Amino acid sequence: MNLSPMMRQYQDAKEASGDALLFFRMGDFYELFHDDAKTAARVLGLTLTSRDKGENPVPMAGFPHHQLDGYLAKLIRAGHRVAVCEQMEDPKQAKGIVKREVTRIVTPGTLTDDSLLDPLASNLLVAVFTNQPGKKDNSSATKGEVTAGVGVRKTQAVSQPIGIAWVELSTGRFEAGVFQSDRLEDELARLEPAEVLVREDDGRFSRSRESVNDRRWTITYRPAWQFGVDEARRVLGEHFGVLDLEGMGWDVGDELAIGAAGAALAYLKETQKNNLDHISNLLPARQGRFLEIDAATRRSLELTHTIRGASRSGSLLEVIDRSVTPMGARRMALWLSSPLIDRQQIELRLAAVEECFKEKRLREQLRTMLADVYDLERLLGRIATGRCGPRDLKQVGRTLAQLPKLKVLLAERTSDRLQQLHHRIELLEELRLKLDQALVDDCPILVRDGGFIKSGFSAQLDEYRNLAGGGKDWIARYQADQIEATGITSLKVGFTSVFGYYLEVTNTHRDRIPVNFIRKQTLKNAERYITPELKEYEEKVLTAEDQAKTIEYELFVALRDEVHQHTAALQRTADALAELDVLAGLADLAVQQNYVRPRIVDEPRLEINDGRHPVLDAMLAQGNFVPNDTFVGLEHGSVLLITGPNMAGKSTYIRQTALLVLMAQMGSFIPAHRATIGIADRIFARVGASDELSRGQSTFMVEMVETARILNTATARSVVILDEIGRGTSTYDGLSLAWSIVEHLHDTIHARTLFATHYHELVELEKSHDGVRNFNVAVKEWDDQLVFLHRIARGGADKSYGIHVARLAGIPRDVNERAKDILAQLEIDHLNKHGESKLAPPPKTKKSHIQLTLFQMDSHPLVEKLRELDLNALTPIAALQLLAQWQDEAKKG
Ligand code: ADP
Repeated sequence: MNLSPMMRQYQDAKEASGDALLFFRMGDFYELFHDDAKTAARVLGLTLTSRDKGENPVPMAGFPHHQLDGYLAKLIRAGHRVAVCEQMEDPKQAKGIVKREVTRIVTPGTLTDDSLLDPLASNLLVAVFTNQPGKKDNSSATKGEVTAGVGVRKTQAVSQPIGIAWVELSTGRFEAGVFQSDRLEDELARLEPAEVLVREDDGRFSRSRESVNDRRWTITYRPAWQFGVDEARRVLGEHFGVLDLEGMGWDVGDELAIGAAGAALAYLKETQKNNLDHISNLLPARQGRFLEIDAATRRSLELTHTIRGASRSGSLLEVIDRSVTPMGARRMALWLSSPLIDRQQIELRLAAVEECFKEKRLREQLRTMLADVYDLERLLGRIATGRCGPRDLKQVGRTLAQLPKLKVLLAERTSDRLQQLHHRIELLEELRLKLDQALVDDCPILVRDGGFIKSGFSAQLDEYRNLAGGGKDWIARYQADQIEATGITSLKVGFTSVFGYYLEVTNTHRDRIPVNFIRKQTLKNAERYITPELKEYEEKVLTAEDQAKTIEYELFVALRDEVHQHTAALQRTADALAELDVLAGLADLAVQQNYVRPRIVDEPRLEINDGRHPVLDAMLAQGNFVPNDTFVGLEHGSVLLITGPNMAGKSTYIRQTALLVLMAQMGSFIPAHRATIGIADRIFARVGASDELSRGQSTFMVEMVETARILNTATARSVVILDEIGRGTSTYDGLSLAWSIVEHLHDTIHARTLFATHYHELVELEKSHDGVRNFNVAVKEWDDQLVFLHRIARGGADKSYGIHVARLAGIPRDVNERAKDILAQLEIDHLNKHGESKLAPPPKTKKSHIQLTLFQMDSHPLVEKLRELDLNALTPIAALQLLAQWQDEAKKG
């Protein structure tokens, strides 16, 4: 096909952009063509038109250039990649077709623009590398594979090592490590990436956007060779300027991590096309450094997002984050996502929080000063990549201006961590002075707007600015001088864009023209002249403005480079500021909400007096939350069995316990009167299937897959909370499962376990199992009504109170009364059959004696049908239809 030169240029740009949508700059517009245009029309609501109407119309859509940021943001949020192709020269000066180039490719995981980033959240690019990519298989029902409601396809094959690297372009943070493949989903849930790079032949990911915990990210396929270890070593070595990575703390055994890191860096280089030297280190991240919290636990504990709505508000993070800077907010999220397991490190943070907690002046002044610092981490990212303006530099200056006061405040602190942070802050006195002397208070965002350098900073700049502004004065004076010299009172100085400045004299005064006037133009009744003097001045005035802008731009670049040279010191400082913000914020939280410093021990015990649920406690009016004790582990027994009616407060109580352990291990004070927390290696939280109906799949299967994972991975140092496990199936099924799960946790794993259940039959376990303790949530029956006291008491609940709760929920009185009658009858029947004894499973080794007559009628056709039914594949409507059909048959029969 015959392409116009411009469309050929478009084709080249398109090829350079891979599978990104291409924004092609044409004059004052960005245009998209072909399929890109269709996508943009759909996602952005642009009008689809066509170019070259006639035989081969090309679909086209576009928008004015100043709307770039808005449209970019929309596409990125929808998970697209966008290449921006700019005009590289002034169209007025271009000979032939304007030169164009793809200047950057914007992807969800490589954002630096302030307008595209959420200041409170990290924006990570993650690369996943495995030597044996998972098999590609689009039928998720394949045997041995389970898609547990999350993006990553879990194969139940043996776990193998994989490399995971993550980098945040906006701040320069870069880490990588080798993990077991069965931890992949959990690491992704921890990192909450914006974009994940995977080998093109890796079948673990489907070709759509993926999600864990309802958070979505973009999957980007990359050529396998980019993950190759030799290639990765070359790319990384070149970037960091080292011959081998061993000097940076990397071992030969880290090949997979290096492969992943190499692929991530190669992607950044390809998409950014500019300087990345603020990414100055690749830190090794070893599995097992942090408290392990798997994806399902994060979700059910609502650490950083709520389950429903997936929003930050209502999450633990929102309640405990009292930071005053975006850097602090992001660091807080990081600490909460990755609590510690090393006692010394935890104590280091706790001691710093305690010092701020006890010293009101320190805490308050720290927070006041930090409120005036800017997002130094991201400023440095923009400065390094060259995407910054005068206002960014000003903000660096303003941040530096806070440091001397901060340093004084932090001098002579007693806690080790505050001392360390004090030393990490670098004043950079000279740079601060320079920025202060150079930049005006109210700097524009863009360089091209000019006017940001203070007068007095550069003599040359001042001179041109005077010229550009003072031109009119000079002209007026010149005109007056010439009138006086020639005696022509009507002489005027004028200006046209073609001739520039001129002197105009009417024909009546033609004879009084001096010799130094040079005639330029003849009008009907006047003549126009120039003089060498006038021309010389004109030259200066006309270029003064441009000159001033050029000089200002040069000064900007010099300042920017100077800041850039201090990147390492500024990064250390930013790091310290972020942490100070978190520590002071945690202290403020502890003061406001009445928290205590937990005692941290290594042995697996938990002793909490008057603990409170951090989120509910903050939401309810002061004093309305009912505090409760938790004693579990070692001499307190390893399993707490909590029974009680629905709505009594069981879930709240067990979650509260898990949250308090987690908060303590991140270095925070906790809502309790007194607490001893034995460090946990893992925390598991699971909610029974029927509490999670919204997830739209075989919830019971998910529940069991997740429970299996706990039984297979929990250790004696773990904390396990299980909420209504076994409820997703029939009563006898569920009860038996719950029973045997508790037994296994108690007999084999010894993990500190809190098991909440409405199966009050389970209380029998205490009799036969040493480490099981019964608790119930106290309720009062009052005049046939239930009053929830939310108080945990020793002993099991003796009944379920389901009927009472149903009444509270508004079930009509007569339905409720009828239910009570039926219950009474059932209880009599049960007593007649089994005497006094309550339902209790037999000793472990023997077969069950529970007799369920319906299922013994082997030959009955209904039973056959039931047996063949695949419950997991049955929709609720189909189930109802079947039931109706069987009832019909039964009636006819
Ligand atoms: P369960 O798991 O027993 O069904 P929940 O833990 O969901 O009950 O609690 C039901 C409601 O009771 C919660 O939404 C909360 O408002 C309230 N609640 C629970 N525990 C407490 C408490 N300790 N103090 C005050 N209110 C509580």
